[in-house]
Amino acid sequence: MVNTEAYTNLTADLSQKNVTLIAVSKMKTVADIKALYDLGQRDFGENYVQELLEKQPLLPADIRWHFIGHLQSNKAKYIAPFIHLVHSVDSEGLLKELNKQAKKNNKPVNVLLQLYIAKEETKFGFDEEGIRQVLANKQQFPMLYFKGLMGMASFSENEQQLRKEFRLLKNMFDEFSSEDFSIISFGMSNDYTIAVEEGSNMVRIGSLLFGRRD
Ligand SMILES: *Cc1c(COP(=O)(O)O)cnc(C)c1O
Repeated sequence: MVNTEAYTNLTADLSQKNVTLIAVSKMKTVADIKALYDLGQRDFGENYVQELLEKQPLLPADIRWHFIGHLQSNKAKYIAPFIHLVHSVDSEGLLKELNKQAKKNNKPVNVLLQLYIAKEETKFGFDEEGIRQVLANKQQFPMLYFKGLMGMASFSENEQQLRKEFRLLKNMFDEFSSEDFSIISFGMSNDYTIAVEEGSNMVRIGSLLFGRRD
């Protein structure tokens, strides 16, 4: 079930602040996605390749699909032909594979580099030095467009902790302001207001729009 009121309020608030909303539709039905599409939403985020491949052909072709989950290199080939932006690029191996697939399809792939900012060990991403190294060698990946950075904060209610993690990401983004970076993707249902205050320009929101996932 789509929460129409939450969507209306959210889009009004975010558009005024020039923040792009990615509606995270993992584990949600095609009918739910279509309902939000009919309200005007075009950017949707998915976490699982198989699930995305099942839904994508059943939905309108002008949806911009964002891949936001951990992507295994051997699955990059399935989404490279149509994905609008891969937020969660977290290894050199994945960069190589995405570049290879983009070349094969003769279609560049837009990517964000995921910076590891959480204190939990379950999350993925490069450390700061890793990001610097990738960007120093980005001519190795001529078929990839490096659009910016993505991060996932700790699962925490501690506002100071969240702000600290978000600032790491924002500082890194500012360090590379000369790289044609335009996107900094952070903020989810429970922390997006703080994220926007800390400089996010792309938030990824699921449960607030679609209700809790089972
Ligand atoms: C699931 C997920 C989201 C959305 O989470 P909600 O709490 O439902 O808003 C955002 N980003 C990533 C990477 C996710 O996996």
